[in-house]
Amino acid sequence: MPDGAPHTAPVFGFDNSYARDLPGTFVAWRAARVAAPRLLKLNRALAEELGLEAGALDGALGAEVFSGNLAPADAEPLAQAYAGHQFGGFSPQLGDGRALLLGEVIDREGRRRDIALKGSGQTPFSRRGDGKAAIGPVLREYLIGEAMHALGIPTTRALAAVATGEQILRDTGLPGAVLTRVAASHIRVGTFQFFATRGDTDNLRKLTNYTLARHYPGLAGAASPALALLAAVTEAQARLIADWMAVGFIHGVMNTDNMTLSGETIDYGPCAFMDAYAPGTVFSSIDHQGRYAYGNQPGIAQWNLARLAEALLPLVDAQEDRAVERATEVLMAYAPAYDAAWLARMRAKLGLSTAEEGDRDLALGLLSVMEAEKADWTLTFRRLSQVLRGDASALRLQFGNPGAIDGWLEDWKRRLAREGGAAEARAAAMDRVNPLVIPRNHKVEDAIRAAVWEADLAPFEALLDQITRPFDEAPGRDAFALPPPQSFTDSFRTFCGT
Ligand code: AMP
Ligand code: MG
Repeated sequence: MPDGAPHTAPVFGFDNSYARDLPGTFVAWRAARVAAPRLLKLNRALAEELGLEAGALDGALGAEVFSGNLAPADAEPLAQAYAGHQFGGFSPQLGDGRALLLGEVIDREGRRRDIALKGSGQTPFSRRGDGKAAIGPVLREYLIGEAMHALGIPTTRALAAVATGEQILRDTGLPGAVLTRVAASHIRVGTFQFFATRGDTDNLRKLTNYTLARHYPGLAGAASPALALLAAVTEAQARLIADWMAVGFIHGVMNTDNMTLSGETIDYGPCAFMDAYAPGTVFSSIDHQGRYAYGNQPGIAQWNLARLAEALLPLVDAQEDRAVERATEVLMAYAPAYDAAWLARMRAKLGLSTAEEGDRDLALGLLSVMEAEKADWTLTFRRLSQVLRGDASALRLQFGNPGAIDGWLEDWKRRLAREGGAAEARAAAMDRVNPLVIPRNHKVEDAIRAAVWEADLAPFEALLDQITRPFDEAPGRDAFALPPPQSFTDSFRTFCGT
C-alpha cells in the first residue's frame, strides 16, 4: 500500500483487563495526531512473540499505528493514574503524562503483556509537560531495554520506535518520536501510593487483588493479599536489583513511580552502565546528591518497598500499629533476600558452583582491588575465564597496577581447586554469565547522535546487533567491548527522558 493511502486499523487481539477490572484508576484517552510518522524500527521478533503480524506492521501501517495516529480496532487507550516519591519528595499526582496503554495481549507463551505508547501527546496527567518524547531518549530506551533483556534481566521492552516528523522543544528543538513499550504491566509502587494518599481503600483493595492475580497468581488465596503481595514484590525486587548490580547497571531515577510490582526494570531515562568499578558512580545530571548512585541501589529499593508497605497498611490491619508491625516483618526479608541473590550471582560470575563460608569475602576482596585499581567492571569479570584457559594477561591489564590482582588470583585459584571440576567447562559457564558487550555509553551516544542529527540509523542497528548477543566471543567485537577513554566517562552525563 502506498504511503498516504488510508490504512485499515489492525486487530491486536487485546484483552483489556485493566480497563475492565479497575474503573476509576485511569482516564480513557486518545493519542495526539502527528504530522509525518516514519517507522524507525520494529522489533519483529517481539512482535511475533506477541502474536502480531510483524510483516504487515513493518512499514507505513506500523508508522501509523505506533505513532498513535491509527489505534488498533480493539484498543481502549487509557492513561493510568499514579503518584510517587521523586528523589525522596512525594508528588500525590503524576500519572501517564505522555503515555497511553493501548491494551493487553496474551503472548505466545500465555503471558499477559501491556502494549503502551510513550510520547503520544498530552493527557490529563501532563501537568506542564508537552506529552512528547524526542528520538534520542526513545532510541536510548530501545537499546538499553533490549540489552537488559539479552542479559537475562527482567525488563520492559521496545516494540517499535517511530519518528513523528515534528520538532519538539527542549533546550533546543529536537526531532520527536514515540516509543511502543511492552511490559508485564505498568503497575508501579506509585500506583498504590495514588490511592493510599487519597484514602481510597476500595480502589487500593481492587488494585491489590488485581496485581496479585496478574503477577503472583499462586498467592491469590492468601489470608492477607496485601502482605502476600508485599512479600512477593520484595523478593522480586531483591532479585532484580541483584541482577542490576551484577552487570554494573545504574538505573539513575529509582523514584517510586519507576518501580514495578512485576519486578521488571522500567523507565530507561538517565540510566547507564558503569565502566570502572566505583560504588559512588552517578551519571544523571540531576542526581546531585548521588541518591541513585550504583552502590546505593539496594538500599533505595528497600526504601521504595517501605513506601509500598505504607500504602498497603490500611489493608493489612485496621489497627495501625499492628499493621505496621506485620508489614515491617515482611520487609525484613528484603536484606537477606538481596544478599543471597547478590552472592548467588557473584558465585556464578566467579565460576563457583558450590557454596563456602568465605565466598562473600572472596567476592568482596576482588571488588576492593577493582575499586582501588579502577578496573573495568564488565571486562574484569569477562577476562577471568581466560585465566582459567591459561592466560592472565588480559585480566591483569584491567588493573591500573596489574600486579595488584595477583594475590587475589591465588586465593581464587585455591578456592576453585577445592571445588574441582574441569577448567574449560567452568570457563564456558562463566562466559555465559559475564557479558563481553554491554551498551557502552560512548557507543550509545554515537548511535543516537547519528540517528538524530544525520538521520543515519546504521550505527543504532550495528549497536543493537552487538548488545543483543552480549555473551558471544567473536572477532571484531573489540570496538564494542572496550570502555571509552576515562576522559569521556568523567564528563559523561545522562538526562531524564523528557
Ligand atoms: P519520568 O521521569 O519519565 O519517570 O516521568 C515522571 C512523570 O513526569 C510521569 O508522570 C510522566 O508521565 C511525566 N512526564 C515526563 N515527561 C513528560 C512530558 N514531556 N510531558 C508530560 N508529562 C511528562
Ligand atoms: Mg516514570
